[in-house]
Amino acid sequence: MFTKDSILSSKEEQQIVNAIKDAEKNTSGEIRVHIEKSNEKPPIERAQEVFYLLNMQETKFQNGILIYIAYETRKVAIIGDKGIHQHTGNDFWNAEKDLLIHYFKKEKYADGISVVVKQMGEKLKEFFPYDADDKDELSNEISN
Ligand code: CA
Ligand code: CA
Repeated sequence: MFTKDSILSSKEEQQIVNAIKDAEKNTSGEIRVHIEKSNEKPPIERAQEVFYLLNMQETKFQNGILIYIAYETRKVAIIGDKGIHQHTGNDFWNAEKDLLIHYFKKEKYADGISVVVKQMGEKLKEFFPYDADDKDELSNEISN
């Protein structure tokens, strides 16, 4: 299934960055996507590690969300900081993770990530509406 160095073309990367920008127009929350080839750690554990490596715990309202993907080892995790997690609980993250996997099985990586980003934006908006003096606290670029 995964034999390439990347699962996304540069056009698809841009599609995802645009999805993040659009999602963040409606909320103070921050969404990041991290894609790496492989990692042997349990995906949730690795996602938490990446979360801190990217300083995602630094948002004002603790409302950063990380979509973590290790494509060669086929690991996916979605985690949110305390501020958003207290409203969603694990069921939401798990449902979104399943949705992502559903798209990945059809090799629709960019579409799957974009759809999940959009839904993260909708969820964040419910609890963290956009503020007039909002800052882009975390980069919208895909990290790896
Ligand atoms: Ca923001
Ligand atoms: Ca951002």
